Amino acid sequence: GLGPEKVGVLIVGLDNSGKSTLLNRLRPKKARTADVVPTIGFQVESFLKHGIQFTAFDMSGAGRYRSLWEAYFKDAQAVIFVIDATDLVRMCVAKDELELMLRHPDLRKVPFLFYANKSDVPKCWTALQCAQALQLDENKDKPWNILASNALTGEGVEEGIDWLAEMIK
Ligand code: GDP
Repeated sequence: GLGPEKVGVLIVGLDNSGKSTLLNRLRPKKARTADVVPTIGFQVESFLKHGIQFTAFDMSGAGRYRSLWEAYFKDAQAVIFVIDATDLVRMCVAKDELELMLRHPDLRKVPFLFYANKSDVPKCWTALQCAQALQLDENKDKPWNILASNALTGEGVEEGIDWLAEMIK
């Protein structure tokens, strides 16, 4: 596991939601890559920044990899859940995956930050519409927040990280 001085933040979401793009934005500049290949199957990306170990993986693949990614839950002090706010068809899939995570004992008290990503796309849902679709207000005993984001430009991203930093300090 992580040492006591390290904070673990998980970045999760369905494929194509924008995790790799977001991760690239958060990654220290010299490590940033120009092109991001869409994630396929179970692939874990991880890096350390300001004492925070960011680890990202894909939740797609019909739970085939669930036992693998659940191993990361016990070191997680926070979760960033990336929603593709333009993918209305799969919003219910995201909801199902989210519910499994919220129910997991290792994540019970962990704050969740949601990005309603791709907010630059005209037909996208607002953060409020995503929150309603995912029934986020049913999470009474856990801190959570949802922000519209654009992982391509970074809009909304820093604001979310600031909130998360407040929650885990
Ligand atoms: P991942 O599979 O969750 O890692 O998703 P990616 O980071 O690979 O992003 C999937 C696609 O969505 C790529 O073509 C990205 O360029 C695009 N994308 C990611 N974030 C945004 C965003 O905020 N706005 C728009 N318009 N496109 C985005």
